[in-house]
Amino acid sequence: MEIKLKNLTKVFPGNPAKNIPDAVAVDSLDVDIRDGELIGLLGPSGCGKSTTLYMIAGLKAPTDGEIWFGDEDVTHLSPEKREIGLVFQNYALYPHMTVYDNVKFPLTNLNIVSNLVDKTLANNHTIKELLVNEFDDVMAIILKSQYKGKFSKDMSARGFVKKYHIVTSVAERIFKFGFQNISTEEAIQYSKLLKSKEALQCKINVAKEDKVAELNARMAELDSQIAGYDVESINAQVRELRIQKRDAILAEIDASTEIELARIASKGLSVNEKFEILDQNGQAISKKRRLDKDEMDALIQETARLVQIDEYLTRKPSELSGGQQQRVAIARALVKKPRVLLLDEPLSNLDARLRLQTREEIRRIQQETGITTIFVTHDQEEAMSICDDIVVMKLGVQMQRDHPQAVYNSPNCLFVAKFLGTPPINVFDGVIKGGKVYIGEEAILSHKKLGEFKDGHKVFVGIRPEGFLAGPDVPASKKVLTLNVTQLQTMGRDISLVCESEHHSDENDIKVIIDSLIKVELGENKFGIKEQKTFIFDGVDEKNSRIYLD
Ligand code: ATP
Repeated sequence: MEIKLKNLTKVFPGNPAKNIPDAVAVDSLDVDIRDGELIGLLGPSGCGKSTTLYMIAGLKAPTDGEIWFGDEDVTHLSPEKREIGLVFQNYALYPHMTVYDNVKFPLTNLNIVSNLVDKTLANNHTIKELLVNEFDDVMAIILKSQYKGKFSKDMSARGFVKKYHIVTSVAERIFKFGFQNISTEEAIQYSKLLKSKEALQCKINVAKEDKVAELNARMAELDSQIAGYDVESINAQVRELRIQKRDAILAEIDASTEIELARIASKGLSVNEKFEILDQNGQAISKKRRLDKDEMDALIQETARLVQIDEYLTRKPSELSGGQQQRVAIARALVKKPRVLLLDEPLSNLDARLRLQTREEIRRIQQETGITTIFVTHDQEEAMSICDDIVVMKLGVQMQRDHPQAVYNSPNCLFVAKFLGTPPINVFDGVIKGGKVYIGEEAILSHKKLGEFKDGHKVFVGIRPEGFLAGPDVPASKKVLTLNVTQLQTMGRDISLVCESEHHSDENDIKVIIDSLIKVELGENKFGIKEQKTFIFDGVDEKNSRIYLD
């Protein structure tokens, strides 16, 4: 589902009596989100991300602007009618319900419009297909479960019964006997002998010594009686009986189908090959209805498998880890098959390891379902790692929107440059003189476009931590910037240098990351800079001069 935000604006009214001004939470936002895209709304606290999300969800009304889902203007539609799935940072699961019931909850009031199907005909068809085409499988599984006691104790039988739930009662009518209840004299006798043998063996196990010989003699007698039975022939008789019973049921089903078809025809209606009821004009009759138990179960199971919580369906939320609880919340949002998935800081309650794992999960689920997703976060690394595109926001305004790497490589303003990247970009006070950028007395670069600036024009120079060149291999003529190295931190492949400069424009440390094979001493060092990793921002409006970008 494609989403369009047009001039979307939200102003929270202030209170003039108390001198509280209006708060512009979202300011004229224009964003197009392509079908199937995962887009991140990224920005610091208070920049309007959540307000934007809640307007898309229908939980907050815009002051101005429009929200479109495909060709539908949903700006004034109630949240229920928008067909969205929403996941909050606090998973808000119902603690007293099992995971299964939590995921089921959104389905309980769901109305769907579907073609009216004649249940009798559909059931008859399913049962017949099974009894004719899968008779041996049905028999094997039902018998297996019977020997184990109850269906519920046997997973494969349970799975089978679930799949073919309609046929269970019919199958039971055919198969509900082991040897115990078989209706041939011979089989009953044989079954009784087996039981007696079992009972006798128990007695022998606990009998006193003087009784053992007597009981063993009785056992030998039973064995000889059993040996007289032809077990193969008994089994064949059992099978024959079952087939007879099955055929009788098939005949019943055919009769029921005839009656149902006659009943439908008597009303002037008909059915198609899917057993949908057609009116006098041959059009399928549709009606609004709730999902039935089996339809709900199918959706719950499918969603649980997708988010990998199928093992935990019978547990309560308190018996799950934070990451698992968040997956349940995602399942609950997805189970209705929404048009759009909205995630409001879904990882912020998780510890670092789970955050990493869960964000990969969200990406996988999003890609598997292809659902258009909006992901709100203030964590730039999180947004960069999983989003197709990010929208960076500041004070309700969209600053930049692009692929994460494109935003990182070409930030259009100082705010965006500072917001993306760990360690953050290093920012120096600079000035333009004679078409060159100076940091202090050092001319760090020149470019023909810089000639457009007046001499003395103030700029901010942003250099990414990985944008420095150091060591003996860099020619002296390329070493343009002096920094005072105060600490060396080895991080395996790289070294992180902590540096100082009187021209650094903020309080953060200057961080320089270079290959760990390069030797750098503490104290004053001269560095080269990589032009693609260096940005010149205007000193007044803080926009990127884009000298290398056009
Ligand atoms: P966070 O990451 O902290 O959740 P956010 O980017 O999601 O922040 P919003 O919650 O959308 O930001 O808030 C945007 C601005 O709107 C903030 O300045 C906030 O104080 C203001 N705001 C939000 N809700 C209200 C309200 N009900 N009344 C007045 N101002 C509000």
